Amino acid sequence: MCIFCEIIAGNIPSTKVYEDDNILAFKDINPVAPVHIIVVPKVHIESANEINSENSKYISYIFEKISEIAKSQGIDSYRVINNCGEDAGQTVKHLHFHIIGGVKMGEKII
Ligand code: 5GP
Ligand code: ZN
Repeated sequence: MCIFCEIIAGNIPSTKVYEDDNILAFKDINPVAPVHIIVVPKVHIESANEINSENSKYISYIFEKISEIAKSQGIDSYRVINNCGEDAGQTVKHLHFHIIGGVKMGEKII
């Protein structure tokens, strides 16, 4: 099992901020901003490269829930980041979205 599947299964502890049948949101263990949440589909999808017509419903569902998750953390302005693949810095091979906020960020993405 990958590390996020272990978190989903409850085998590795995490600070959960939202959970339902399809998705889990938890605090990043190494936050880069005052708010840094990781949102994952409960099904194992390796990366954005593996999104297809069968599983895209989980991705759209995540985006339905993102504003609610952000609001629960006290923010309504944030960055949503997905790192896909090695060059982009994806270290955990389970598709996830970073919600980052609580700080004034620059206009440049990188
Ligand atoms: P990536 O670099 O793959 O886009 O992001 C992976 C993120 O997962 C990193 O920000 C890292 O801090 C976080 N992370 C890695 N392992 C754990 C863990 O065991 N628990 C939590 N809460 N976050 C983790
Ligand atoms: Zn996984």
